[in-house]
Amino acid sequence: MYDLVIIGGGPAGLSAAVYAARANLKVAVVEKGLPGGQMQNTTEVENYTGFKMIMGPELSQVMHEHALHLGVEYFNADVEKVELEGNIKQVHTTRNVMEAKAVLIATGAEPKKLGAKGEEEFRGRGVSYCATCDGAFFNEKRAGMDKGVIVVGGGDSAVEEGTFLTRFNKVTLVHRRDKLRAQPILQKRAFDNPKMNFIWDSTVEEILGEGAVKAVRVKNLETGEVTEVPANGVFIYVGMKPNTDFLQGSKILNEGGYIPTDENMKTAVPGVFAAGDVREKGLRQIITAAADGAIAAMSAYHYIESLEDAKEDVTV
Ligand code: FAD
Ligand code: NAP
Repeated sequence: MYDLVIIGGGPAGLSAAVYAARANLKVAVVEKGLPGGQMQNTTEVENYTGFKMIMGPELSQVMHEHALHLGVEYFNADVEKVELEGNIKQVHTTRNVMEAKAVLIATGAEPKKLGAKGEEEFRGRGVSYCATCDGAFFNEKRAGMDKGVIVVGGGDSAVEEGTFLTRFNKVTLVHRRDKLRAQPILQKRAFDNPKMNFIWDSTVEEILGEGAVKAVRVKNLETGEVTEVPANGVFIYVGMKPNTDFLQGSKILNEGGYIPTDENMKTAVPGVFAAGDVREKGLRQIITAAADGAIAAMSAYHYIESLEDAKEDVTV
């Protein structure tokens, strides 16, 4: 029996683990992938206070080590189902069933698909959702890699990762509007980069190739004109969707699949907390995920104390 089981080992889950362990709770983190979550797919992080610049995988590693150093139990498994009602919560993983007094959901989000023709067919053969993981494959010095890469989207991810990809090849960013959504500092860097080009008011309708990507079919949404743009790779950054499939049917989700909480990270079910990108909230960043995690852990601590107090009252 754990005091707190944390589902998800991104910055929200790992920060919660640090705070819960320091509050002397018996705490476990269950993570289905690598520790660090989306930070593993991030190149340079320049806005986590205290680090002028740190690579995402490195920040993942130091956060993971910090939690382990405090005695947090860490399990690599996929959570498939949870039973959240009542004083004892059950977390069903691919390895076992864990019991806990409180549960923290910190499962974050994953990239949305674009829905273009050829996207699935060429996934891993030119289509990617992770520049950190796959950018180097598209080095223009490699034979046949002279067409450049396409980035789809206009948010922070598309612009930041697109700029990173210019280290390897020329980049054409295709955005459905004529203005980027990304932070001004990222926009400026992209506009100043001679290896970045932009196609505005347009979407990628189809990804073409034979075995590997060779081109994309781009449609101008203003004029309806369709053009074929040669490309070796297509990086898709059109937003994120919350990882809450295992909670379908539960009363803690909103219509979009995110989890509403109060300012103490409490969900609609007592003893169940949520932190990070999986929450219904405005600013989804590493630093806000870490802050949510800290608050959620302390809320869980107070909730567990209240359970103990209630038990003592009954005994007296
Ligand atoms: P996540 O990081 O998504 O972690 C959730 C974890 O839960 C994952 O490891 C996942 O495997 C695990 N999980 C999910 N479902 C299950 C399950 N059923 N069972 C077990 N485990 C599960 N933010 C910044 O502040 N600065 C940046 O420079 C920056 N760059 C970014 C670049 C990119 C390309 C992207 C996509 C995001 C970037 N962000 C950046 C945003 C930032 O990464 C997120 O806001 C942050 O990682 C959210 O943390 P989290 O812990 O809530 O979720
Ligand atoms: P996002 O902010 O939701 O942006 C998604 C982009 O994709 C938008 O520009 C959107 O266009 C476009 N888009 C959505 N659906 C589309 C479709 N079907 N076809 C074509 N384009 C489509 O997602 P994100 O950029 O992945 O960022 C996710 C979160 O991570 C954000 O909170 C972000 O701040 C954070 N993040 C932060 C950093 C950083 O701080 N350096 C870096 C990366 C990510 P519209 O603009 O027209 O809506």
